Amino acid sequence: MRDLAAELAAIRAADLYRKPLCIEGTQGPVLLVGGRELLNFCSNDYLGLAADPRIADALIDAASRYGTGSGAAHLVCGHSAEHAALEEELAAFTGRPRALLFSTGYMANLGVIAALVGRGDSVFEDRLNHASLLDGGLLSGARFARYPHGDVSALAARLADAGGERLVVTDGVFSMDGDIAPLAELARCCQAHDAWLMVDDAHGFGPLGQGGRGSVAQAALGLKDVPVLVGTLGKAFGTAGAFVAGSEELIEYLIQKARTYVFTTAMPPALAAATRVSLRIVIAEGWRREHLAALIAQFRAGAQALGLRLLDSPTPIQPVLVGDAGAALAAAARLRERGILVTAIRPPTVPPGSARLRVTLSAAHTPEQVERLLAALAVALAG
Ligand code: PMP
Repeated sequence: MRDLAAELAAIRAADLYRKPLCIEGTQGPVLLVGGRELLNFCSNDYLGLAADPRIADALIDAASRYGTGSGAAHLVCGHSAEHAALEEELAAFTGRPRALLFSTGYMANLGVIAALVGRGDSVFEDRLNHASLLDGGLLSGARFARYPHGDVSALAARLADAGGERLVVTDGVFSMDGDIAPLAELARCCQAHDAWLMVDDAHGFGPLGQGGRGSVAQAALGLKDVPVLVGTLGKAFGTAGAFVAGSEELIEYLIQKARTYVFTTAMPPALAAATRVSLRIVIAEGWRREHLAALIAQFRAGAQALGLRLLDSPTPIQPVLVGDAGAALAAAARLRERGILVTAIRPPTVPPGSARLRVTLSAAHTPEQVERLLAALAVALAG
């Protein structure tokens, strides 16, 4: 049998060992960990809704009406009126005929890609796509090719040579770099080569676009440009789950074919009800996006003044490049000593030599908290 202890020791020796924190209180800009308060700059709670009392109340109220469990998969008897209403509201939000709920974003991506392409087809993915998209491509059995990050001409050359159905898959906002995919160019390239374009906008829905409609809406692209649009609900929406939005036929097809839709328990109906409230808040409370944009500008200006290595990101994901995995870990540990929680992101999540501190900002932060972060980064990265 495989020597697990030896492999774990090797992971530890390479500074790549991971272990979850245990959060004792609510999500928010300040987290309680081991009885100590830490300023949180690592969540994906971009709009500060993960602990919003209006959404929590909606969850409690719906749980008292519907109970806790959905009881079954959607196609058995787990699909409730709350799921149906949320799907309609997400379709309207994305300006698409239909939307379909999945229990997580990971499952949505696996299920959608494996349903749309298979043996004899080709799938093309940006090299920096999220793991769930890469795994979906591998699972599908289609010919799997990765193109250099954001490089539409390299993609075009590969598309020209491919046969069968062709699916191009990209993050809208890249989860570890924070940059936005060249969506308009990708859409043009896909149309020129008669390929489908799928965009996973897990990090764009909420912070970007008018009413939080994401990177695709911000680029003024519609259904024809991006026929497959994925969003997740566990980030800016502050709940959990995911959706795919697209044409009537796409959604009907996924209901028949996406195995991660068919063979899993539907999300609890109370969660769907809570997400309906969250969606209304995301659309209505534009001040959250404005405040977040101001914090992003403040952080970038401050970090540049300190000479930190930032990436070209206009989003709440603001990585500070360190390079070496051990150095990134040491910097994160120094920040934690100063009461600040930032995650060191290391290979295999990012390419070797590009370990970083993944700073994420939220509308729940104050400018004073961002100043504290900058002061602590100056010290943590100097030592
Ligand atoms: N897509 C992207 C781009 C992500 O960053 C993530 C989660 N980090 C997912 C999908 C997976 O979503 P979920 O957490 O709902 O499984």
